[in-house]
Amino acid sequence: MNAAATERAKLIVRGAVQGVGFRPFVHRHATELHLRGWVRNSAQGVFIDVEGTGDTVREFVHRIESEKPPRAVIQSIECSFLEASGYERFEIRESDDSGGKSALILPDMATCEDCAREIFDPANRRYRYPFTNCTNCGPRFSIIESLPYDRANTTMKRFTMCPECEREYHDPSNRRFHAQPNACPRCGPQLALWDATGYVLATRNEALMEAAQLIREGKILALKGVGGFQLFVDARSEQAVMRLRARKRREEKPFALMAPSLDHARYECDIPEDEEHLLVSPESPIVLLRKLWRSRLAHSVAPGNPYLGIMLPYSPLHHLLLREFNFPVVATSGNLSDEPICIDENEALERLCGIADYLLVHDRPIERHVDDSIARVICGREQILRRARGYAPLPLHMDAPLPPILAVGAHMKTTVAFSAGQEIFISQHIGDLESEPAHAAFRKTAADLPRLYDAAPVEIACDMHPDYLSTQFAARLHAPSHRVQHHYAHVLACMAENELAAPVLGVSWDGTGLGTDNTVWGGEFLLVKEAGFERAGHLRTFRLPGGDAAAKQPRRSAVGLLFEIFGEDVWDRDEVPGDFSGPEMRLMQQMLARRVNVPLTSSAGRLFDAVSSLTGLRQVASFEGQAAMELEFAAYPDVKTFYPFSIRGKVPMIIDWEPLILEMMHDILAQTDIGVISAQFHNTLAEIIVAIAERVGEPNVVLTGGCFQNRLLTERAVERLNTAGFLPHWHQRIPPNDGGIAPGQIIAAARAMKERVS
Ligand code: ZN
Ligand code: ZN
Ligand code: FE
Repeated sequence: MNAAATERAKLIVRGAVQGVGFRPFVHRHATELHLRGWVRNSAQGVFIDVEGTGDTVREFVHRIESEKPPRAVIQSIECSFLEASGYERFEIRESDDSGGKSALILPDMATCEDCAREIFDPANRRYRYPFTNCTNCGPRFSIIESLPYDRANTTMKRFTMCPECEREYHDPSNRRFHAQPNACPRCGPQLALWDATGYVLATRNEALMEAAQLIREGKILALKGVGGFQLFVDARSEQAVMRLRARKRREEKPFALMAPSLDHARYECDIPEDEEHLLVSPESPIVLLRKLWRSRLAHSVAPGNPYLGIMLPYSPLHHLLLREFNFPVVATSGNLSDEPICIDENEALERLCGIADYLLVHDRPIERHVDDSIARVICGREQILRRARGYAPLPLHMDAPLPPILAVGAHMKTTVAFSAGQEIFISQHIGDLESEPAHAAFRKTAADLPRLYDAAPVEIACDMHPDYLSTQFAARLHAPSHRVQHHYAHVLACMAENELAAPVLGVSWDGTGLGTDNTVWGGEFLLVKEAGFERAGHLRTFRLPGGDAAAKQPRRSAVGLLFEIFGEDVWDRDEVPGDFSGPEMRLMQQMLARRVNVPLTSSAGRLFDAVSSLTGLRQVASFEGQAAMELEFAAYPDVKTFYPFSIRGKVPMIIDWEPLILEMMHDILAQTDIGVISAQFHNTLAEIIVAIAERVGEPNVVLTGGCFQNRLLTERAVERLNTAGFLPHWHQRIPPNDGGIAPGQIIAAARAMKERVS
């Protein structure tokens, strides 16, 4: 960080922070650090907005967390970095009660230090009790059935507190005062170990110890956690991990890990300070970390991937179980590939019986599935890639009230969102709407949010694609539906979390999304205006042989790209990937010749696929994004050169990748190192973004869409936009992928309503 540069951060602090001297505490630290900005109470928590030079803002954030007033209970701190706004002093602003007191549901929080100490203290009455919690930690969103948040409205209602728990619950000086899930070994939920048929092998602590032994023996354990089942195996055992892959039908997609402690995680991965902060936070997400050479974990945990996704124990059950190991375990969601996570033990017997050898279950029901979240640090800021446990259903705070709108997302990585007052509540990650169980989870979640917040949506916002199950679902609801262009929704979501007003240039790059001209978009430059948007530019289109099937076969994107350059002559060229079967090849030739099932696309994701195939990296993908990931990982970050490209036309401008591809094919023929080719490809895309930004001339540029999960692309684009004098923005609290579509859809629908009345 440049010592003179101004940084600005927005914080939302939730918990018991009102009436405990929190605002004076904030004021004192802000003025000590010479920060400017303001602090304000609201029904949603304490809002803080500060700016200052050098590292002072980061120091401030650190102090808020570590030096809070004694009676303050912080349940969640959300921090985002924003463009400096030029505050002149620091002030305490009037409380804001506008928009009413919309009920706030907190996310599930990782075990606090006090509770963690108690469960390992033989003298404590909660010694080794796996369901210990307090006001500062424990389950919330995963157990709430309805509001208000009282024990009777949670899945804990079936457990009657013993006199001692009752006393804690009613004692204002106790850490468990009004802790709704309060429990102890005498009165609360208990563990049981089942075999794969549901036969009880052991209960309580004995169940836990036997489960640990089974994992040591290489068995697959299904564990009922906080928001659903997880599958655990010894991450050092190639055989155990491969067995899990075969049974889960998950070929190569990386598995997440749980490490017994920070030190264990540090043995496997490089953990810089910001990443460590994320790992130990109450949100406790899976954090993407660079793997170290000394790591002894099975190769099949994350084949060909330089990163590992690691989390730390976040419930007492996890703490107790992981304490038995001296090594990380695979901790992946308890489901078949592409299905939602399983939450009920009897359902688990059915759905996980072909996967798990044993089940470690308990009798605290899970009201709704909440997966483990995935996060990382990019360009010095946190970025959530999968938003679920620890984050859902925290809202995105808007500066003006919105009408109640339900947004149902797109098709992949679906989330739904619901607006109430100034908040847009975002659901937990649901997943791809491919299977019936996923669709059922989607319907349940879409009904869940309006019910919890007790408001009927006046409009349903959905994608423009008529074939998406989410779109069809929207059409069947009672309220009118409003169809939102996919890439426009991406851009609006990114603008909202960065507090940007139109006009803004949105770089919206992903795999697929239906455009307003009925072609498949995905390499878009959208100029968001006061009202609506304009397609300022896009990547040159090419045909995708087989349509959606091409997403799973990067080699088909390569053929489509080459066909666009060479036409029918392509079939005589050596560059056409050689591993198609004879019939496959003939079918593709016919489809392209007759223009049947070869949709036109401007997709940046498919361009990545094509390049990954042409360079010989990946012809057939076993999971979404694999080809692009492998291309990213191959790049030499030190290479700064790039390929030529051209831009033609006005509105929209067409970015022609043909010069890029021709020169790259030349490099491939000359056997140039793939690390150089890949880096030059990424650099070219960053140059393209800058070139279009210069032609459009808007200072604010947002980077959004699944392609910006690519770290190299995002970092290069941010760096080049900065040096060219633009203000780049990217996602922090909302995922760049389709998990961020729903909040964008709400904003689009609200904008359209406003235009209709004015
Ligand atoms: Zn606690
Ligand atoms: Zn009790
Ligand atoms: Fe998308």
